Amino acid sequence: MRVLSTRGFRGRLSRKHCQSRSELCRPHREPRALPPSRGNAAAGRLSSAFVLFLKPKFWSRRDFVDDGHEDQHWGYEGSTGPDFWPDLFPDFCAGTSQSPIDLNDDDDTLVTSTDDWVFSRYDTIPNQMIIKNNGHSAQVEWTTTAIGEVPHVSGGNLGGEFAFAQFHFHWGKKNNRGSEHTINGKTFPAELHLVHFNTKYDTIGDAVAQEDGLAVLGIMLKIASEDNEKLSPIIDGLSSQETLATPFALSDLLPDDVTTFYRYSGSLTTPTCNEVVTWTVFEDPITISNNQIEEFRKLLDDAENPIVDNFRPVQPLNGRLVSGKEKE
Ligand SMILES: [Zn+2]
Repeated sequence: MRVLSTRGFRGRLSRKHCQSRSELCRPHREPRALPPSRGNAAAGRLSSAFVLFLKPKFWSRRDFVDDGHEDQHWGYEGSTGPDFWPDLFPDFCAGTSQSPIDLNDDDDTLVTSTDDWVFSRYDTIPNQMIIKNNGHSAQVEWTTTAIGEVPHVSGGNLGGEFAFAQFHFHWGKKNNRGSEHTINGKTFPAELHLVHFNTKYDTIGDAVAQEDGLAVLGIMLKIASEDNEKLSPIIDGLSSQETLATPFALSDLLPDDVTTFYRYSGSLTTPTCNEVVTWTVFEDPITISNNQIEEFRKLLDDAENPIVDNFRPVQPLNGRLVSGKEKE
């Protein structure tokens, strides 16, 4: 993604500030996906929302539009909203293992695991972190893409080791909605997704074509009266920066209790909805204040409307098993 150097999110998304056909100016006009890797056509059908973190950190959007074609526009309301994604993106969004879902701890399928989490480099503070408004969410990445340098997660019954790629948020216009997953039918005002790819594959481009390619850690956010200071570097970055003034360790974003979680096989929650995600949703939320979540609601999309309610409704379980690790 092209990264401009001087203006904050709200300024960058204003057309009067746009100097090129960058997606910061026109975030809803999606760039083409990366070409298929290793001959797997599925990788070539990825949406831009997903390939954002597959790309070199300073790629130009023009790299993807030279042939004059652009991927299908999508959003969260109207004729391009989630109800129409299965028609607009039939390859995967019409599938039977879609995300998000409602998670129900009364389900008989809940199981206990003794496979402890291994969070590697989660305590490492990088030299630099970049924050981006992709028109659908606020997304943060490390500037290094060297797989040996980024945080990894394993254990937790993931069945492999997964390297960190990016994290982003989903949030509501009001506090009575915003999360993608629900727990016993309960929604949260926001949900954080920490996206990782399976290191058994050489690149994330290879991984996203495989059913065990991605592991996403989902963390609910609930409202608290006090600011969550661990979120402050992100909140500050929303309005004024592209490089976070205060890089921080990913462990700052984890809930206190990571032993209790839900696990199921699902999909990307944005088009093209590839069914390649091993989902973990922690039961324990983290907090965010009203003032902090209001800053997310000030982000603007391509039409200069606030980015709010950027969550997909829950999808049918279709017989999938949901498992977890019970409290000990
Ligand atoms: Zn997400």
